[in-house]
Amino acid sequence: MNNIKKSLMDFTLEELQNSIKPSFRAKQIYGWLYHNYATDFDEMKNIPKALKEELSKKYVVNPLKIANKEVSSDGTIKYLLQMQDGKTMEAVWLKMKDEQKDEDGQITQEAKYTICVSTQVGCKVGCAFCLTAKGGFTRDLSAGEIVAQVVTLKKDNKHKHNRKINIVYMGMGEPLDNLENLSKAIEIFKENNGLAISAKRQTVSTSGLSNKIDRLGEMDLGVHIAISLHAVDDELRSELIPMNKAHNIQSIIDAVKRFPIDTRKRVMFEYLVIKGKNDDLVSAKKLVKLLSGIKAKVNLIYFNPYPGTTYERPSKDDMIAFADYLIKHGLLCTIRDSKGMDISAACGQLKEKESNI
Ligand code: SAH
Ligand code: SF4
Repeated sequence: MNNIKKSLMDFTLEELQNSIKPSFRAKQIYGWLYHNYATDFDEMKNIPKALKEELSKKYVVNPLKIANKEVSSDGTIKYLLQMQDGKTMEAVWLKMKDEQKDEDGQITQEAKYTICVSTQVGCKVGCAFCLTAKGGFTRDLSAGEIVAQVVTLKKDNKHKHNRKINIVYMGMGEPLDNLENLSKAIEIFKENNGLAISAKRQTVSTSGLSNKIDRLGEMDLGVHIAISLHAVDDELRSELIPMNKAHNIQSIIDAVKRFPIDTRKRVMFEYLVIKGKNDDLVSAKKLVKLLSGIKAKVNLIYFNPYPGTTYERPSKDDMIAFADYLIKHGLLCTIRDSKGMDISAACGQLKEKESNI
């Protein structure tokens, strides 16, 4: 692959200040990147031409292009994004809360959005229920490619830089398998002169690499974690997530207990509910027991079927009975409403469509 350059979005402000002279230009460039969402050096009006020419030899501004976009009736927008080497990955724009208006039609609270970002092209973990896993692993995303997903989606939705946004690392890939670039992206998002997205608004979802949960905790970045638990006994969990053999349920629970958690917050446990596999009340009972002693919150997810899978979506009644059991036994619990059901909901499904064309 010729001509693949680093992106200006690969750097913290301090790194840019160290490499660009005079250093105040770095702050101006940060403004162009994260406040004006510039995609080209030409847009950077107050930057001298000579400096732009020098920078453009080494760097691109934004390394992503929108290759496809699917808009759902509930406000979810799924993006297929293309990188410099032609590879593609997904990011999703999720509307979490509608705007609120008073009787006069004045907006009293703006709508709330979350961006779901990818960290890899493909994934090495190979979960049996996951479409991303079917294509194998291609490569890690760079920090700049992670950061640029948020910039690109905010720009496309005309979402001003100072409007609050939440980030969930729940797109394609296993974030903790790309820990170095992930942690760099988290830092770049936090930059006060950039997007200023605090770590509290960022949630890393992991399939449970317990040693890496510890490493992320030691970095003390302030992010939240979500654990894709999906099963309460190791036999089923190993069927669903093969690397459970190396990082079993107990090792994950132990790592979560060591993780630095904001005292006002809870650790989210995602539980993908699959018909006839883990949707019974015996499993619910075991889940309550497993999470006792942890400030947990459970997010039940309907399995989202795709052509070729043998797993099935659970019934609504079973889902509600499962949730009721957890709530009655003191666990906070939500059911993930299948956002974007009329497009291609779960991760990996838009990309899959593209390769079928
Ligand atoms: N690799 C990380 C983050 C990306 S996957 C992880 O596994 O946590 C994000 C979420 O999508 C995970 O909770 C995963 O279990 C869920 N998911 C994958 N395939 C799905 C499907 N077919 N239906 C519903 N959720 C799915
Ligand atoms: Fe990878 Fe997450 Fe899919 Fe498992 S569910 S294969 S960890 S992206």
